[in-house]
Amino acid sequence: MNRTAISASLFAIACYTAPAFAHERAVEFPNTADGSIVLAADLHTHSVFSDGQVWPSIRVEEAHRDGLEVLAITEHLEHQPKKADIPHPDRNRSYQVAVESLVSQGYEGLLVINGAEVSRDQPHGHINAIFLNDANALLVSNPRAAMEAANKQGAFVFLNHPNWIPQAPDGIARLTDYHKDLIRDGLLHGVEVANGTLDGHSEHALQIALDNNLTVLGTSDIHGLVDWTHNAGHGGHRPMTLVLARDKSEASMKTALFEGRTVAWHNDDLMGKTEHVEAVVKACLTIEAGFYPGKTSVLPVTIRNACPVSFTLRNTSEETFQNVSDVFRVERGGEIELSVRTGEVMKTVELTFEILNTQVGYRKSLEIALSADPAPAPIAR
Ligand SMILES: [Zn+2]
Ligand SMILES: [Zn+2]
Repeated sequence: MNRTAISASLFAIACYTAPAFAHERAVEFPNTADGSIVLAADLHTHSVFSDGQVWPSIRVEEAHRDGLEVLAITEHLEHQPKKADIPHPDRNRSYQVAVESLVSQGYEGLLVINGAEVSRDQPHGHINAIFLNDANALLVSNPRAAMEAANKQGAFVFLNHPNWIPQAPDGIARLTDYHKDLIRDGLLHGVEVANGTLDGHSEHALQIALDNNLTVLGTSDIHGLVDWTHNAGHGGHRPMTLVLARDKSEASMKTALFEGRTVAWHNDDLMGKTEHVEAVVKACLTIEAGFYPGKTSVLPVTIRNACPVSFTLRNTSEETFQNVSDVFRVERGGEIELSVRTGEVMKTVELTFEILNTQVGYRKSLEIALSADPAPAPIAR
């Protein structure tokens, strides 16, 4: 190893710490500063009761393994390709089977909710309704009447994959006049900005959510196995919605969804309204300053990441770093030490960053400030 390589490897040891998560599937986010808990929810899934490949009990097992707090079972009402093998006259049956499995397995931390996907051609497209009492009531020919039936049950209703190529050939999410009427009439409450199965990511959908005050959602829309599709257990995770709720009850979860207190998590991207993405990021990233060694004005500062998502930061402060460039990553559950050139010895250091793997508007990332007070230097003997 030559000298450069040795110093490079020492540098790597000094700066990067291995992730702290022993269990890679863990989906645990700290509470936000206002005391909200962050619930991991997948609100769009399929089983063999529509066009999925597995029995509903597998959905429950996967959700438990992934550390989800909330799982919605949302079969296509109209699309029933397995009808000859699995006659499906009661469209609540998939949910019931999932709950039976939940109870028999004793997975107390997981909430399973009843839902359905009303799947039509445009202008309706595909729309999910969750927190249903009776999915059969949505089996009507007029799609608008299905939406009204869902809302009559107090359902939370959201537009699925609006950038899906068969319905949006240019890949750009748009609302139809039919959708605009649903929103105007209070019948449509959210929109997917990330979907794990059909054309995953839409910054246009995020802008639609912001413009129309819709709740931002990320879902798996899983049909096969989560492990095979998303490499769960090996660093991957299904797209999901982080719900910022008062507590773990179904009522709090539902309130948070109607209030739009969510962040979509897809790959390493966190997408949502500024205040909610900022609340989650600030709960994840903490800063601690060391002391100025000797006569230097270069301050060691550690940024820690308590979350299962890795962050890419771009330094926008006046201060620059002695050891890394302006763009760096803080791995999931990891930390990074920065040597900050503060110019003079400061009582408080405030650093500002753009968090590149967040989106809070159309092609717009979150900006945050982190500040810390340098520790007193130890007294020399
Ligand atoms: Zn769909
Ligand atoms: Zn679906």
